[in-house]
Amino acid sequence: MSFNELASKLEKLNTSTETEELPPSPALSSPRQRRQYAIETELVYTDAGEGADKYHRSSSVPIFQTATFKQESLSNMGEYDYTRSGNPTRSALERHLAKIMGASRALAVSSGMTALDVVTRLLKPGDEVVTGDDLYGGTNRLLTYLKENAGIIVHHVDTTNLESASKVFGPKTALVLLESPTNPLIKVCDIQGLAAAAHAGNPNALVCVDNTMLSPLLMRPLELGADIVYESGTKYLSGHHDIMAGVLAVRENKVGDRLFFTINASGCGLSPFDSWLLLRGIKTLSVRLEKQQRNAQQVAEFLHEAGFKVRFPGLKSHPQYDLHWKQSRGAGAVLSFETGSVALSEKIVEAARIWGISVSFGCVNSLISMPCKMSHASIDEKTRKERDFPEDLIRLCVGIEDPDDLIDDLKTALVKAGAVTIGIDGQLTNNVSN
Ligand SMILES: *Cc1c(COP(=O)(O)O)cnc(C)c1O
Repeated sequence: MSFNELASKLEKLNTSTETEELPPSPALSSPRQRRQYAIETELVYTDAGEGADKYHRSSSVPIFQTATFKQESLSNMGEYDYTRSGNPTRSALERHLAKIMGASRALAVSSGMTALDVVTRLLKPGDEVVTGDDLYGGTNRLLTYLKENAGIIVHHVDTTNLESASKVFGPKTALVLLESPTNPLIKVCDIQGLAAAAHAGNPNALVCVDNTMLSPLLMRPLELGADIVYESGTKYLSGHHDIMAGVLAVRENKVGDRLFFTINASGCGLSPFDSWLLLRGIKTLSVRLEKQQRNAQQVAEFLHEAGFKVRFPGLKSHPQYDLHWKQSRGAGAVLSFETGSVALSEKIVEAARIWGISVSFGCVNSLISMPCKMSHASIDEKTRKERDFPEDLIRLCVGIEDPDDLIDDLKTALVKAGAVTIGIDGQLTNNVSN
């Protein structure tokens, strides 16, 4: 592109709101140009792709730790100029993500909340957002801020009820924001049904799914009718709790261009080093998460048999078991259970040893938490009460350890706290089950 052409394009950009005028991010994803393998294969398989020779065919994508790129000449800009707009390590990650998320384009940003922030910048004052009533704490906080400061109307509905939730959709619905299963109440919603109902209410409504709980290994919301999917890369995608990252993926390039505009304009694209770490983490997603959900299944069955009220979509007792398995390939590795008393829950959490007391999930280590006191403390007590949020809820995020060790440690914590007693025959008696 000549200097004059560029100048005229930039001039148009500054005066136009048409998204078609926006420049694409460098190195667009091209996931649909060859045969697709099973996702386990795609997670580790990388195209030699364009540019591979330039990088000596290195097996691991190099980290381009640079802010700027030199132009070949005054008129020849080259593919990259400034890392805020694009960086080859980030592009490699984005191409890989688009492929495994079944997207026409993916974008990598600095955190999961940043991904949501980028999505909400598509909204204008007066726009309506329809979303669930058991949202990630940070999501709730950002939506509340937009409601109070940006003229956005937010409807919290019970997304598990397709019929009643659908009544809220209309021509003003601009964004539908879904989580399934939710965290920590493990509520499941019918993504396909809700997406169809939202699009019937307003064909331009954007249906957006936060897929952090399942990852692309277990669910691909774009194939269920969603327009945008985002995930916290801090969780399963990276898997080791050593970076913060967020990813976005879209069905239509047009929407991707609008999201890229905000990323470029605000500078929230993922750094080269963190992009490299995320690429590295994604390669082991299937071995980690499959082991984690096998462990989670065993832990859930143990607690269920010990007489606790357990929420986990791998248990037949889950009220939306069939729906969950219709749209997902696995139950995931987050579960929660109730003890009937906040004080007792506190004792159990404090008595666990292998289970680290920590917010978040998706790490290879097993974690235990009390959402009301930790991750969900930003939702005020009154709202929690209105939404029937059990204050005594304990959340378990299951890691890759030996499952017998995990269950043993939990059993010891339950006994120490007085929630169960073990008889001389080894039988558990639940002292709190109702
Ligand atoms: C963690 C999380 C987020 C936010 O991601 P960060 O990377 O922490 O910003 C959003 N949604 C869900 C469901 C999460 O678990």
